[in-house]
Amino acid sequence: MQLKYGINMSDLFKNIVSHSKEYGFVFPSSEIYDGLSAVYDYGPLGTLLKNNIREYWWKSMVQLHDNIHGLDAAIFMAPKTWKASGHVDAFMDPLIDNKDSKKRYRADVLIEDYLEKIEKKIDKEVSKAAKRFGDDFVEEKFKAEHPRVSRYVQTIGEIKSEMARCLNENDLKGLGTLINELDIADPVSGSRNWTEVRQFNLMFSTQHGSLAGGDGKLYLRPETAQGIFVNFLNVANTTRSRIPFGIAQTGKAFRNEIIARQFIFRMREFEQMEMQYFVRPGEEMKYYEYWKDFRMKWHRAMGIPESKLRFHLHDNLAHYANAAVDIEFDFPFGFKELEGIHSRTDFDLKKHQEFSGKKLQYFDAELNKNYTPYVVETSIGLDRMFLALLSHAYQEDEVPDADGKASTRLVLKLPPALAPVKCAVLPLVKNKEELTEKARSIFNSLRFSFDCQYDEKDAIGRRYRRQDAIGTPYCITVDFESLEDDSVTLRERDSLEQQRLHISEVEGVIREKTSLNTLLRSLQ
Ligand code: ATP
Repeated sequence: MQLKYGINMSDLFKNIVSHSKEYGFVFPSSEIYDGLSAVYDYGPLGTLLKNNIREYWWKSMVQLHDNIHGLDAAIFMAPKTWKASGHVDAFMDPLIDNKDSKKRYRADVLIEDYLEKIEKKIDKEVSKAAKRFGDDFVEEKFKAEHPRVSRYVQTIGEIKSEMARCLNENDLKGLGTLINELDIADPVSGSRNWTEVRQFNLMFSTQHGSLAGGDGKLYLRPETAQGIFVNFLNVANTTRSRIPFGIAQTGKAFRNEIIARQFIFRMREFEQMEMQYFVRPGEEMKYYEYWKDFRMKWHRAMGIPESKLRFHLHDNLAHYANAAVDIEFDFPFGFKELEGIHSRTDFDLKKHQEFSGKKLQYFDAELNKNYTPYVVETSIGLDRMFLALLSHAYQEDEVPDADGKASTRLVLKLPPALAPVKCAVLPLVKNKEELTEKARSIFNSLRFSFDCQYDEKDAIGRRYRRQDAIGTPYCITVDFESLEDDSVTLRERDSLEQQRLHISEVEGVIREKTSLNTLLRSLQ
């Protein structure tokens, strides 16, 4: 059972965090100085995995769509950008402190956690009834008619709508009242001794050059999207793009999150992969549906099952959005946002036009008129995607050991195309020079094509386990037979199947099985 804010996390989550550190995927930042909260460094394998996810995103968005162009905008932007976008005045989270535990929370998250508890109660009743009624069970009917469950459903609706009202109207007092009326306790101390709710701006700021005071104040971008909006005309003109077209970029973003204690799920420095798609006003819903479908397909193509992904419609739309949905993933601590797909109207371009005094319009030759395009965006956190993949891939299963007895192995069942290391070359034993020489020569040739590892230390079984633990999809074993007929054994990570191949076939087979093309083709 897990709770929020890093306490009593499920064993699975704890294991993933320690596995990440042990095998060089993710380290706490500046660890020798006891780390910096919610900031992390990616180790050798983590860097490879992250690069592979980024490449998969980039190719699927930019390479596969001939009307989407790449951009790499700077992290620092003219400070007026953030005034125009609304971040200076409104990029706030409602903050509440517990006077006894001195812990700080997001008021809306405390309420959402409360709602989640009621949802769990409903789920429990539903699965009990489904068992009892078998094929005759109709979930919606049960939820509407069962006295206790229908009361839960109604309560959830009432709380959600009051929370949405408070957030939309910036009614901080109302949020505080809701927390007190629901009798929500501090998850750490159990205390109900709360401060008032107040606003907290999430942007980090720094100084530009030698200018002192307000004049030199710069913000670290809290999202990459604004770099795209302000470059809208530059890209449109230089690529001679016609609407609809998109601009994509990946890069760091910074948010001074109030609560950031779920490993790389919520960080203060993180990476986003965002795409803004510029369309004719009135046609945005068509593209919103397209991107919803495409992005869900992108997740499913990695082998993430339907049961671990879901859409979550926004209850309270931002004032500039006319549709918004999240793709949620079932993390070890429950379903949480992984990606957002938002129809943002012409809000951002119009605001930048107003604040910069520069025209940000598009001339539509077909309609023979100028207009401000509407925007549909897809926005995903690379680090969150990394955590989702790791959580899905991390498994313990039973496999036969060298003596045929069942033993538990720890394996990362990552999609082969994204695995940090594609294959490991292993001489059966290390003290036979002919074997190690042959294995090294195979390794030296394969490394031109793939990220490979050569490993001769320890018994072969232990080496297989080490590769399983980092998600290497294929191991090539060089044995005494190899010296005679140039054949090797190819071992597959998930099925454990072993296949005998001629050395000359190895590169082709691994290329086919680990190629990103396979993933990309499944998106068509
Ligand atoms: P949340 O509600 O979880 O704070 P958000 O709705 O503020 O997220 P967006 O502003 O829509 O998030 O950002 C787009 C994506 O960027 C998110 O779906 C998420 O994957 C990622 N992201 C946002 N904040 C963080 C963070 N602090 N750490 C890691 N990834 C983040």
